[in-house]
Amino acid sequence: MGKKKRVGIMGGTFDPIHFGHLVTAEEARINFQLDKVVFVPTGNPPHKKDYKVTDAEHRYLMTALATNSNPYFEVSRVEIEREGYSYTVDTLRQLIEFYGPDTSLFFISGADAVLDILTWKNIKDVLDICTFIAATRPGYPVAQLKSKLAEIKKLYGKDVYLLEVTAMAISSTEIRKRIREGRSIKYLIPESVEAYILKNGLYR
Ligand code: NAP
Repeated sequence: MGKKKRVGIMGGTFDPIHFGHLVTAEEARINFQLDKVVFVPTGNPPHKKDYKVTDAEHRYLMTALATNSNPYFEVSRVEIEREGYSYTVDTLRQLIEFYGPDTSLFFISGADAVLDILTWKNIKDVLDICTFIAATRPGYPVAQLKSKLAEIKKLYGKDVYLLEVTAMAISSTEIRKRIREGRSIKYLIPESVEAYILKNGLYR
């Protein structure tokens, strides 16, 4: 039997994608010996957002532009083409069917998203299908997160891995705010994404 393929699934709103996301995916690829990382921009997120999420097609195109130069990165339309709310369990079921049972999936997301995972649809199946990697920013208050991880371990017997990424000090919220205020976003996101945002008048 051949070695199992290891595929990272980078789930996020990516509104917009920034260097923090790209560095996180690359660090996860190297640290967890992933064969590739598939970015999955969310379609219609079920969880409450405190702002109006940008059209999925824009977020998909920005993600494609940002990841284009890395041969190990891909972008999937699986969530943006699915009708209704995007639940991670449906995405993972579709992806494991596509990649086949000889594949180990690693779901990479932000630590804040992981704090809520016990409320996600069919969380037991989610944890059975993939291994979770939670990216934290430097200075992230890990105490609450660690107690959540202990709860997950106790309930489902699964480990969630933490990955501290310095570049995650950049956030999509901060980038949207800077654009609204007319401040520079240079060196926080790829130039191609900056040009796309300007051309389409996003986040004004
Ligand atoms: P979010 O709540 O907008 O983000 C939480 C935090 O994590 C933010 O600080 C965010 O930073 C960061 N983050 C998000 N994705 C990241 C990634 N891939 N790598 C590193 N940091 C990341 O979370 P979200 O983006 O909407 O959702 C994250 C994933 O969880 C998505 O795939 C979503 O579909 C899934 N999810 C599923 C359910 C469910 O199935 N019921 C519920 C909630 C979320 P930035 O703002 O800078 O990105």
